[in-house]
Amino acid sequence: MAATHFKLNTGAEIPALGFGTWQSPKGETKKAVAYALSVGYTHIDGAYCYGNENEVGEGLKEAFDSGVKREDIFVTTKLWCTYHSRVEENLDKSLKSLGLDYVDLYLMHWPVAMNPNGNDERFPKLPDGSRDLIRDHSHITTWKSMEKLLATGKVKAIGVANYSLRYLKQLLPEATIVPAVNQIENHPSLPQQEIVDFCHEKGIHVTAYSPLGSTGSPLMKEPAIIKVAEKEGVSPAAVLLSYHIARGNSVLSKSITPERIKANLQIVKLDEDDMKILNDYTAELTKQGKLVRYVYPAFGVDFGFPDKS
Ligand code: NAP
Repeated sequence: MAATHFKLNTGAEIPALGFGTWQSPKGETKKAVAYALSVGYTHIDGAYCYGNENEVGEGLKEAFDSGVKREDIFVTTKLWCTYHSRVEENLDKSLKSLGLDYVDLYLMHWPVAMNPNGNDERFPKLPDGSRDLIRDHSHITTWKSMEKLLATGKVKAIGVANYSLRYLKQLLPEATIVPAVNQIENHPSLPQQEIVDFCHEKGIHVTAYSPLGSTGSPLMKEPAIIKVAEKEGVSPAAVLLSYHIARGNSVLSKSITPERIKANLQIVKLDEDDMKILNDYTAELTKQGKLVRYVYPAFGVDFGFPDKS
C-alpha cells in the first residue's frame, strides 16, 4: 500500500494527500472543503492570499459540527508577502477567518516581502505596474519572526514554500529551526529532484503543489501519464497524485467538483516500471529543454530555480 502519512521533523505526521483551495471561488469553497472532509480528506491547504479562508473556515466548521475532530485534521496556511514584517498579525487574521486557535503548519508563501503600505493590501503595485517589493527585507529575517511563532502555540510547525536550492542554502545556516516543510510545484514535468533530494537530506518534508498541472489539469492529457494509468487501471489523476507519494512527498490536489474531489482520493502504489515510464518522460522533457513551470507569479525576482534563473 502507498504511504498515507509522512513524519515531519517536529515528530508530527502530515497526511500524504491534502486538499487545495487556491482559486476556489467564493460560494464554492465552503462546499468543496466540507465535502472533501466528509469523504475522507484529513489535510486542508489554504493561504491568506487566496482570499477565501473565511469559507475554508466555514467548511471546517461544518465538518466539526458533523463530528470530525479538530485534532484529526491537518490544516496549513501561509504568510503573505505584504506581512513579512508583521508575521503574527497575518497569522492571527488567518486563524480568525479559519475559526481555529492553531494551524498544524504555517508556511512562508514566497521568500519575498511586498510593501505593507502600498496601494493594495495583498498585491501592491508601483506606477509602472510591477509588484511593489521591499527588496532589502531578507527572507531570513522573516524566517526568524516565524520561528518565534512556535512559542505562541498558534502553529504546530513552520515551513517554507517556493524555496529553491539557492534560497534553502541561504536560510539553513541562519535558521535556529529547520523548516518542517518546503511546499513546491512538483509533477513529472517539473520534478525538481535536486530540491527534493536536498530537503530529504536535511529532514525537510516536501509537499507537491499543482500536481495535475494546475488550472485545467493539463498534465492529465500527457501520453506517458495515460500509459501508466492504463497499465494500473486507474485515472491519470491517480497516477499524478501517487507519483509524489512514491517519491516520499505529500501532495495537494484542488477541485471544486464533487466527483473529482472524491475520485482524487484514489492513491495507488506505483511500481518501479511505472516510475521508470514517468522518469523517462521527465528525462525526455529535460533533454528537449521542455520542463514546464505552471505557477510563477510576476514578482520580478530571481528565486533561484534553474528553469527560471
Ligand atoms: P491542481 O490541483 O494541479 O489542479 C487543479 C485543477 O485541476 C482545477 O482546474 C481542477 O478543476 C482540476 N481537477 C482536479 N481534479 C481533477 C480531476 N480528477 N479530473 C480533471 N480535472 C481535475 O492545481 P493547484 O490548485 O494549482 O494545486 C493544488 C493546491 O496546491 C492549490 O489549490 C493550493 O492549495 C496549493 N498551491 C500552493 C502554491 C504555493 O505557492 N505554495 C501554489 C499553487 C498551489 P475544478 O476545481 O474545476 O474541478
